[in-house]
Amino acid sequence: MVVAQRYGERHRILLTGGAGFVGSHLADALIARGAHVVVLDNFVTGSKDNVAHLVDHPRFTLVEADVSEPLPAVEPLSARFDAIMHFASPASPTDFEQLPVEILRVGSLATLQLLERAVADGARFILASTSEAYGDPLVHPQPETYWGNVNPIGIRSVYDEAKRFSEAATMGYRRGRGADVGIVRIFNTYGERMRPDDGRAIPTFVTQALRDEPITVHGSGTQTRSICYVSDLVRGILLLLDSTETGPINCGTEHEMTMLELADTIVRLSDSTSRVALIARTADDPERRRPDLTKARELLGYEPLVGPEEGLARTVAYFKAR
Ligand code: NAD
Repeated sequence: MVVAQRYGERHRILLTGGAGFVGSHLADALIARGAHVVVLDNFVTGSKDNVAHLVDHPRFTLVEADVSEPLPAVEPLSARFDAIMHFASPASPTDFEQLPVEILRVGSLATLQLLERAVADGARFILASTSEAYGDPLVHPQPETYWGNVNPIGIRSVYDEAKRFSEAATMGYRRGRGADVGIVRIFNTYGERMRPDDGRAIPTFVTQALRDEPITVHGSGTQTRSICYVSDLVRGILLLLDSTETGPINCGTEHEMTMLELADTIVRLSDSTSRVALIARTADDPERRRPDLTKARELLGYEPLVGPEEGLARTVAYFKAR
């Protein structure tokens, strides 16, 4: 059920992964609501730069620590939290290859530790899950009732299965310990503060387009994604936080595009002379991806507002400025 803004003024919110792409935008939105935000991040894929504009804010605290280890006994972490939002996790294709154990640990050990803390504090716990929970889906578009099609030992499995475990843990703590939880399944999100070299399609294509280099599209380029601008995702997450819904609830957009359409759009918006170069398809790369947003609409009143042209233009402008 959607309720009026529940988390804001004076609430203490622990946000893991808050120095990352999504986390830093979430931190901005929570600060703007009047919350006190404690970001816990070890910068494995995030950066202090993403929150540099917040470090002097009186309601912002940055703690550098690995959330897969026991939480450090420092003052900002000892006081009670009203909400705990677990967004820490390497999440890009290059990370799946380079940080497999770190991904497994932050999806499992860190999730369990944070759920324990949420129960102890009586805090609402929000888990950042993923459309990767559906694997290479055999059902299209993907409703939350679909159980997915995941290769448990493939190159992406450390991420997919860690997130599936973290969902199971979150439901287990709800049923077994009475935890107040909400799970959001995030579909491909993009925008300012993405890493240019993280291997995800949009920052890769934008970087290549701005350098007039070939746009490297995997496979035939006919595989699809539904891309979501980060401000829409953040709004959806806050709707879930404020609600009493458990989820999982999909969050994203229905703007489904092939990789070739995405490449063409980015080349055009970048005023680039780049051409597409098809390269080998990565293993277990999902063929189609589009969220069924019925639940998000009905339970949260969620509606994405930013179309791909507008969001991609903003993203191109950001990378250009850098
Ligand atoms: P990101 O890599 O930019 O952010 C992740 C942040 O978590 C980084 O700041 C990183 O340093 C931090 N982190 C990772 N492991 C940590 C640890 N052990 N201890 C402390 N901090 C740690 O990635 P993102 O795209 O912003 O993703 C944020 C969350 O959203 C992740 O949980 C991801 O799985 C989820 N998600 C993102 C997308 C997307 O399209 N961006 C899609 C689905 C799910």
